[in-house]
Amino acid sequence: MRVIMAEVFNSWQGEGGSVPGSAFGRRQIFVRFAGCDLHCLWCDSREYIDASRVSRWRYEVEPFTGRFEYKPNPASVDEVVDALLKLDTGDIHSISYTGGEPTLQVKPLKALMERMKELGFDNFLETHGGLPELIKEIAPLTDYASVDIKDESANATEDWKGLVLREVESIRILKEAGAKTYAKLVVTNETRVENVRWYASLLKGLAPLVIQPREPIEVFQARLMEFYREAARIVGRKNVSLSFQVHKYMNVL
Ligand code: SF4
Repeated sequence: MRVIMAEVFNSWQGEGGSVPGSAFGRRQIFVRFAGCDLHCLWCDSREYIDASRVSRWRYEVEPFTGRFEYKPNPASVDEVVDALLKLDTGDIHSISYTGGEPTLQVKPLKALMERMKELGFDNFLETHGGLPELIKEIAPLTDYASVDIKDESANATEDWKGLVLREVESIRILKEAGAKTYAKLVVTNETRVENVRWYASLLKGLAPLVIQPREPIEVFQARLMEFYREAARIVGRKNVSLSFQVHKYMNVL
């Protein structure tokens, strides 16, 4: 089975705040898939969005050395498993499947998740959540999930409200399958507080919410406090957290 990969590396999870399901500060091996069907304004994986242009993938030879080797795409699932196992530093919390959007290649994603479970690892899914019908296929293999709630200001798609409703459906499917799941909302100065209230009302009783200011941080503190307070008022004060992309400050992948 073949998969269009972007990269495999070992690092710390820099996001997720302190809600249940977060792996913030945990060591993970990251498997970044190429390809995404959205077009968020602030995407930081832009070079991997069009999978047809990702002609090769890279894997770290040794953690934190910055040394990579390259292989042509598509990769075989066996090649990816080999690259993963070479990066097992013995302190791995879970394998993070990220992107791009990993669920777009659900068959190889599922095969990888199955293999890593057999080998004794937990699976952590990072997804935009817009494809609940594909989420269903891998939900039983998912131990942890970070599912985006795309803010209107991301400009990710024409049908923004439909996307948010599908993301919430994905969260429901993952939760029902037993995955520890939280929702991640990236906010900007253009984020509207009434939208934050809407997201929170959809998540109430379902999943905790992390609010992450877009990098580089420009959201005014007063706005951030308002978003946080309004979300906490609706989902409950123990179910909301700020999240920052700490790996960027540490200058690691
Ligand atoms: S969903 Fe993620 S990978 Fe896709 S365009 Fe948005 S930020 Fe980029």
